[in-house]
Formats: sequence, structure tokens, C-alpha cells
Amino acid sequence: MGLSDTFTLDATGQPWFDVDDHGEARRTRWKRRTRARQIAYIDDDTSTHQESSSPLKRLKTCGLAKNPDVVLRVHNGRGFATGLMACGNIWTCPTCSARIRARRTVEVEKALDEHCKSGGRIGMMTLTLQHDDTMPLKETIERLNRAWNDLTGRRRYRKLHMALTGTITTLEITTGTGHAGWHPHLHIILLAGPDSTEATIREATRGLHSAWSGLVNKVTTKYTLERGLNLVWFGKDSAAAAKYVNKIAKEVTLTDTKNGNDPFALLDDSDHKHTAMFLEYANATYSRQAQRWSSGLRRTLSMQPELTDEELAEENEAVGNESLIITRELWNKTTETERLAWIELAEALDLFDST
Ligand SMILES: [Zn+2]
Repeated sequence: MGLSDTFTLDATGQPWFDVDDHGEARRTRWKRRTRARQIAYIDDDTSTHQESSSPLKRLKTCGLAKNPDVVLRVHNGRGFATGLMACGNIWTCPTCSARIRARRTVEVEKALDEHCKSGGRIGMMTLTLQHDDTMPLKETIERLNRAWNDLTGRRRYRKLHMALTGTITTLEITTGTGHAGWHPHLHIILLAGPDSTEATIREATRGLHSAWSGLVNKVTTKYTLERGLNLVWFGKDSAAAAKYVNKIAKEVTLTDTKNGNDPFALLDDSDHKHTAMFLEYANATYSRQAQRWSSGLRRTLSMQPELTDEELAEENEAVGNESLIITRELWNKTTETERLAWIELAEALDLFDST
């Protein structure tokens, strides 16, 4: 399967990997991955679970050479290395996460575009619950998911369900400031039929609002409704919807490295508190799906079957110009800083060649 069969251009006309950043943002991600890897070893030394069941085990080899040659390529001024191992963990690996999210975002954009071309309408519903820093993340995610599953089984949901071609549900997790604690939330893209209007969808979600607060309050008296259920309506404007989806992806990990609520920012401090929080996050998200398309939606939109996060992260890119080749032995024995310097050198050489 060629690259062009799998991925398309993003909203600005750039191929998916150009959504990935370079320069300072990339340096930050690599630094954070190094820290995440250190935490993987700390976890082996301190936790009671077997090393083989550690949620961070694959991070230890992420970015090491897999092939005899590591080929550094440059496309549109941006360098990247091919022939490497990739852990494919969207939650805990800063570099794999950026790549997977970029690809997934492009795929969602394509779906929204297809849907609108065939007359569909788009809305996005966000579900949150209130939480504080005494609530363990795993429990909060489970309560959120349980409440959402309960909601979709209710009679009140049927009205909304009837109006939909499908949904794309994404779980996002941010860290709260002060005593707010972890903030897991669900973004549910509503792919509504041609007859849907903002008024009909708002009416259907209004009915859900009280059911949602009831469910959230039922799971624990500690939880009360925060903003709860929020709807943004895009109608036929797939470009505006895509821009919004892109913004959300970037807020969580992609390029906005100054965003303090991004769980990867926990990797910027090596003190005990931040390390423990990152480990809690790694354990709570282990094997958890980040995005789910409703059944049959891909087929309806003539999209390819879904690739796993691991498959997306491991796809070898045959695009751009070959700039430098480094042997596996050399690549694996140098530091991350040196590897990054080679990629930046490849970018400089490519620039020199093209002028
Ligand atoms: Zn990785």
C-alpha cells in the first residue's frame, strides 16, 4: 500500500507529516521521550509488576535502528529518519503520539469532507465531568466511559442516534491546574444526515443533558456536572470542523509544547511528584483506545480499514529526498542529541542542494 493510498493532504494542502513539527518543538519532544524512557527504567526498579507487563516497555527501544541502514530523508525542508523502531503508544510516547495524531487528524478531516460532499452535516459534542486531585485517573476515565455507554443505551439518545450517519469518539486527557486533578473528556464528532439542522441536533442534545448529569451524579456523589455536555455546530462547513479537530489535536500533544496542561509537560520536571503522575497516567491509559469510529462508518464514507496506532507509527515513509545514511551500529550507539543533530544536518544539506 503506497503512501498516497493511505494518506491524503491536510486542510492546508500539506501531506500528513508536514503537520508534524520541526525545530524547537521536535527537540522538546525528543527530550521528553528520553525522560519517558528513564521513567520506564525507574518503573522496573520500583513497581511490583513484571517488567514485561510495564506500560512503558516498548518506549525503551523506540527510535533505535531496526534496519541495517537508517536513511535520513527531507521533505519540504523537514527531515526525518526512516528504518527505526516505533513504540506506537499514542498516550505515553511524545514522538509517536505526534505522528499518530497528525495522521489520525488528516484521516478525520478526509472523513468530514466526504461526509459533507454527500450532503451531511457536522457537530461536535464534548462530555466532561467534574473532578479533583483526589480522584485517580484510571477511575475517572472508567466513570466517564461508563456514563457515556449508559447514555447511548438510553431512550433519550435514540432521537440523536436516528439523526446520525455515525460518530467519531476521541478520548483526551489533560492535567488540571491547582486542585482540579486529571481532566479526561470525550469529543464526539456527530456526522449528521442532510435533513439535520442545528435546531434539531441542539434539541436532541438538550434532552441528553439532564440524562448525562443524572448518570454522572449516579456514579458517585463526588462528581457533579461541570460544563457537562457541550455542542458546537458546524453544519456543512467541513473545513471549519476540520480546523477545530486539528486545534484540539494540537492542544493535547502535537506542536503546542508551551501548553502546560499537556500530560507530556509532566516530563519536563524530573522530581518525584511529576514522575509519579506520569506513571499513573501511563498505567491508566495502557492499552486504551484513543479514538473510535462507529461501526460501518468507514465503509459508508469509502474509507480504508483502520490501522492500529502501531501500524501508523511504523509506516516507512518513502517520500522526500534521501539526504544521509547512517549505519545501525553507529545510530544506536550515539546519544539522542547527536541523532537529532544528524537530522538537522540532513535538513541543512537538503537546503544547500536545492539552492
Ligand atoms: Zn514511540
